[in-house]
Amino acid sequence: MTGAGPVTGRWVIRGARPLGGEPADITIADAAITGIGPGATAPPGAQVLDAAGLIALPGLVDLHTHLREPGREDAETIETGTLAAALGGFTAVHAMANTDPVADTAGVTEQIWRLGRAAGHCDVQPVGAVTVGLGGSRLAEFGAMADSAARVRVFSDDGRCVSDAVLMRRALEYVKAFDGVIAQHAQEPRLTEGAQMNEGAASGRLGLTGWPAVAEEAVIARDCLLAAHVGSALHICHVSTAGSVEIIRWAKSKGWRVTAEVTPHHLLLTDELVASYDPVYKVNPPLRTPADVAALREALADGTIDCVATDHAPHPVEDKETEWAVAAHGMTGLETALRVVQEAMVDTGLLGWAQVADRMSARPAAIGRLAGQGQPLAPGSPANLVLYDPAVRAAVDPATHASRSRNSPFAGMVLPGQVVATFLRGRPTVLAGKPA
Ligand SMILES: [Zn+2]
Repeated sequence: MTGAGPVTGRWVIRGARPLGGEPADITIADAAITGIGPGATAPPGAQVLDAAGLIALPGLVDLHTHLREPGREDAETIETGTLAAALGGFTAVHAMANTDPVADTAGVTEQIWRLGRAAGHCDVQPVGAVTVGLGGSRLAEFGAMADSAARVRVFSDDGRCVSDAVLMRRALEYVKAFDGVIAQHAQEPRLTEGAQMNEGAASGRLGLTGWPAVAEEAVIARDCLLAAHVGSALHICHVSTAGSVEIIRWAKSKGWRVTAEVTPHHLLLTDELVASYDPVYKVNPPLRTPADVAALREALADGTIDCVATDHAPHPVEDKETEWAVAAHGMTGLETALRVVQEAMVDTGLLGWAQVADRMSARPAAIGRLAGQGQPLAPGSPANLVLYDPAVRAAVDPATHASRSRNSPFAGMVLPGQVVATFLRGRPTVLAGKPA
C-alpha cells in the first residue's frame, strides 16, 4: 500500500465503521479529515486503504505513560515507547515526570517534548513534576514549564503521592493561573509502608503485608475537598477501589472540578493472581478484589471515572523477574489497552464504541488540555484515527511488542482485537498491524 506511488498525504479509507456504526468512506488530505460517509469522493492521487469490517475510532490519548527516557533507556526509550503507543492505536501520550533527571524544569520537559517530535510515532506531551526531584518538599517551577515549548498543563509526582496537604493546596492554587491540573497518585505513605499487595482475604492467606483501600481513599477524599476549597482542577490517577469511586461520585455531584482515570489492568485482573507470586502482577496501586473490579467497570460506564489511562510502566527483566518482595511495581499496557477495554467493557455490554472513543480519546485529551487530539471523526478534524478489528482473538505475546520491556500481565491471555492502522495527522504510523 505505502510503497505504491508517491506519498501524497491523501488517503481514502474504504468501508470502515466509524464508532462501530454503518460502513463509510473516510477521506484525508492535508493532515485533516475531508469527508466521511458512504461513497465519499477520493481526493486526487489518494492512496486507498480497504478497511471493510474495521471499526474507526479517533486516535487514542493516554494520560499516563512512563516512557523512562531520560535515565532508564534500558527499560524504554521515547522511540520504543511511542512506537508501542502507535501500535496500540494512540496518537498522543502524556509522559510521566519520574524520569532521571526528573521532569521538573522547562529544560527537561522541553527535551522530552523534542525527542517525541523527532520520533514521530505519536504526540508526546510531557507531564511536569509537582515537587522538585519528586522530593515532596518544594514546589517545582510550574510557570516555567507551562511557558516552555512543551506547554506543560498536567503536573504529577506520579509514583509518589503528594502527601503534604499544604503543598497539595499550594500546587492546586498555582496551576489555576494557566488552567492546569494536578494529577495525584493517591497513596497515604504511612498506611502503605512495606505493603506488598491489596489488603484483604488474599493477603491474609498469602502472608504478605497488605495495602489497605483506605490508604487510597483517604488521600482522594482530602484532595477532592482541597480542590473544592481552592476552586482548582484535580485529576485522580489509576483509581483502584470501590470506595474511591464513591468519593469521586460524591465530589462530582457537588460540581467540583475532579476527574479520574482507571487502568486496563484494574478493569480485568484481581488480587487472586498474586497467589502465583509472579511479580508480573505486582503493581502500584495493587490489583484489588472482584468487587472493586465490578465497581470500576460500572464507574467507567456511567462516567464517574472519566477515562482509561494505561499507566504503562516498563521494567527490564532484572528488575521484574526476581522474588516478589524486591521486584519493581508496574506493568506494560500501551499495546494491549484497547483489547483489554474491549474484553472488559465492550464484550460485556457495558460500553459501546462511541463511548470507548469518549473514554479513550475525547475525555483524556480534554483533561490533558491537548487541543489537536480527541476530536470527533468529522470533516475538518485533524486526521488522527485508529482502524481496529474487533473480530479476531489471539494470545498476547509480549515478544512481539515494540516496547523494550516485556512485563505484560496479559501475556498468554487470549484477548479480542487488533489495531490494524493508526494515522497521525493524515500520516500512517501503523499499517497492516505493523509500524508504517
Ligand atoms: Zn502512579
